[in-house]
Amino acid sequence: MMHFSCDVCGKDMTQDGAERYVLKMEAFAATDPAELTEEDLEADHVEEMARLLNDLEEGEEPPQLLPTCKKMRFDLCPNCFRKFVNDPLGRESASKFDFSPN
Ligand SMILES: [Zn+2]
Repeated sequence: MMHFSCDVCGKDMTQDGAERYVLKMEAFAATDPAELTEEDLEADHVEEMARLLNDLEEGEEPPQLLPTCKKMRFDLCPNCFRKFVNDPLGRESASKFDFSPN
């Protein structure tokens, strides 16, 4: 038996007849690969490596390399699905919080 739980709030949705929503997201770099030459790619790569090494030397956390394409799939309970549909990027809820510097 498959087990389903909400990926946002953890609510168990395994029960028969439980409402469940599937959210599929695909994010990718909007650069047209046909416009990139090999030279561009190599230059970027070298620059990126230099930047990484530089950051490492400074004792900083290495930056996370972004994948060019990422597909995600989430199971949502009705409640979280509704919240997502109303505010997909969480902008509304983010602006509600006033983060103080301390
Ligand atoms: Zn939920």
